[in-house]
Amino acid sequence: MVSAAADEEFLLAVLNSTPVVDGVPADEFADTARARAWLASAGGQGTAAELRHVAEARRLLQAVVRGEQPPDVLAPLLQGAACRPALVDGQIAWSLMVQPDRELAVRAVLAWDALRKASPGRLRPCANDECRLFLIDRSKAGTARWCSMAVCGNRMKARRHYERARNS
Ligand SMILES: [Zn+2]
Repeated sequence: MVSAAADEEFLLAVLNSTPVVDGVPADEFADTARARAWLASAGGQGTAAELRHVAEARRLLQAVVRGEQPPDVLAPLLQGAACRPALVDGQIAWSLMVQPDRELAVRAVLAWDALRKASPGRLRPCANDECRLFLIDRSKAGTARWCSMAVCGNRMKARRHYERARNS
């Protein structure tokens, strides 16, 4: 089975596949050939159906993480999925049983759930309201606010500085 860290990374990449580029909302799945190749490299099938399932999971997970929708909207993504336990080297290992085209979408939802249990509130939208990216806050204090300090952090600091200067 694929590692939890890899699934977490996949989840964040899916959530962050609708960035704002030069002020214009972009969709990295719009180039379907490239998106399908990326899904195949992430352990998927690379099919058109898989891309549709992952895009739907992205739409719903983004809304849930932004607090716009309750987690229950994710339920249709999990339909027909099951986990089967097996003993491997004395440990219980769980295998995800689901139609192959839907596996990546289900894994993204499971990664979201594992993350919110292990690190509640640490997956969140970037605090720059003009940015559509998400971050997983791995700081000890839990105070990370930006998808990237280099991009949004500095931009927001500069803006606050400008507003303070203007208002004084
Ligand atoms: Zn940002």
